[in-house]
Amino acid sequence: MLALKNVEVVYHDVILVLRGISLQVPDGKIVALLGANGAGKTTTLRAISGILDVQDGKITKGEITLDGEPIHHLSASKIVRKGVSQALEGRRVLAELTVEENLRLGAHTNHRRLGENLDRVYGLFPDLKQRPKFIAGYLSGGQQQMLAIGRALMSAPRFLLLDEPSLGLAPMLVQEIRDIIVEINRQGTGVLLVEQNAGMALTISQHGYILEIGKMVMDKASSELLKDEDVRE
Ligand code: ATP
Repeated sequence: MLALKNVEVVYHDVILVLRGISLQVPDGKIVALLGANGAGKTTTLRAISGILDVQDGKITKGEITLDGEPIHHLSASKIVRKGVSQALEGRRVLAELTVEENLRLGAHTNHRRLGENLDRVYGLFPDLKQRPKFIAGYLSGGQQQMLAIGRALMSAPRFLLLDEPSLGLAPMLVQEIRDIIVEINRQGTGVLLVEQNAGMALTISQHGYILEIGKMVMDKASSELLKDEDVRE
């Protein structure tokens, strides 16, 4: 189980962005984290992945645990080694490298199983399998998104953190990404899914959290949230 307990995050020592949030991602489940622009969703993922310092952000209270063991004091690469891996928002692939070079970089914490993990990723993304030598920067937006997810999967994480995977994609591709997330989860990976597309996220997750200006305002089974008028709004 991946868990956040009363986590508070401050940027530049003064800007309080997360005001004591708690959430839980059980093994093998999909959990949705929803909220409007600026609510703090990306900050939550950065806190879990240990990459707040790049943005001059800090966890000032609370704790993040994996199976009850605190992980919030670990470096980003140790957190990946522990089994938590994030696919970044905005499809931040390395544009000048090929598809396969991008994927190999994702495996830097887990070289021994490189072949096995590459097979898994190519199985999930046949489009990538067809063009391993293609320069990533020339891929379509949807393919870059898939490459970003594939790269995160190359460390064979127990928990995959996804930041708005459907952002900017045409409806058909949103459907494709949705099916791929379901398949990744079916293969045993727990998923924390940050989305603005609440409809998509709530139909594939078991549980959902709603963040509003740094505070968790709702926490319910996704089926319940889907029925809620306010949530749909
Ligand atoms: P979006 O969907 O727009 O990305 P979000 O819910 O992911 O929104 P965050 O990106 O976590 O929200 O931002 C939450 C708040 O923190 C916003 O008010 C934002 O301006 C602020 N913030 C984010 N990053 C920084 C930073 N590096 N320095 C200062 N403030 C920041």
